[in-house]
Amino acid sequence: MSSGLKFNETLHPGVEVSYSCEDILYQDRTEHQDLVLFTNPVFGKVLMLDGITQVTTADEFIYHEMMSHVPILAHGAARNVLIVGGGDCGLAEEVLKHASVEKLTQVEIDASVVEFSREHFGEFNTGVLDDPRFDLVIADGMKFVAETDRRFDVVIVDSTDPQGPGAILFSQDFYDSVHRCLTPGGVLVTQNGVPFLQRQELVTSIERFSKTYADAAAYIAAIPTYFGGHMALGWASDNAELRKTPVAVLEDRFKAAEFKTRYYTPEVHAAAFALPRFILDAVEEGRAKA
Ligand code: SAM
Repeated sequence: MSSGLKFNETLHPGVEVSYSCEDILYQDRTEHQDLVLFTNPVFGKVLMLDGITQVTTADEFIYHEMMSHVPILAHGAARNVLIVGGGDCGLAEEVLKHASVEKLTQVEIDASVVEFSREHFGEFNTGVLDDPRFDLVIADGMKFVAETDRRFDVVIVDSTDPQGPGAILFSQDFYDSVHRCLTPGGVLVTQNGVPFLQRQELVTSIERFSKTYADAAAYIAAIPTYFGGHMALGWASDNAELRKTPVAVLEDRFKAAEFKTRYYTPEVHAAAFALPRFILDAVEEGRAKA
């Protein structure tokens, strides 16, 4: 029992988020990053990479449902999906709930994250690694998308923040290489930070999307452990109609998918693209700078 110990997240200078630690389940310096997994009385198991909260057993469902079901149900015929990052495999579990998905490729740079997630995050990744549709590639996501001859209907970037190994996944080269790998009408979704505290990150991603994709946008979800309000999820596609898929169509597709959710509904999906003014201003600024 490590009572009294605390882990502080200092992602945003001037603000610290402090988690009391009950037990340290795993701690290591991998080839790529500092990794700690501990238990907290409120959020359950908490994974931090380089001191930044990545995923918790208490609120992972919000993030994983919204990063997977929104692009897949908007697309309507996603057969091949790529996840870049996502080492805890919670996002993969949600993608694989779609029987229509024939193959899920996941490119994760750090094998250690997958290994300990297999052992410690069974609450939300059971069955992923044994699913015959799942293909795990241990590599840098930038190198993979630059070189692969595979094509994808949906690409989801479940990365760390734009520092350390994750920085390259916010670059123009990366977004352009993903564009090359998308099938016609495909869509890229990215974790793009909390605009109230990381506004420039969103502006820059939208600017870079806009240089290559016909439609650059974002949608939002509220994840309690991503401190600072709404989280922005970047959206880029050459099919501008995709993010306007009517609720009635989403309802039919969601009903046909036949799985339960705890956050996602077709109405929440559509509403997520209605951005608060200050976030829409950041998106419009990014579009204008392209
Ligand atoms: N939900 C978290 C968030 O929004 O910050 C992300 C969770 S997931 C643990 C982030 C993953 O991205 C980690 O497993 C990390 O190893 C991986 N990653 C970071 N840089 C990468 C890169 N260049 N290529 C592939 N995976 C990368």
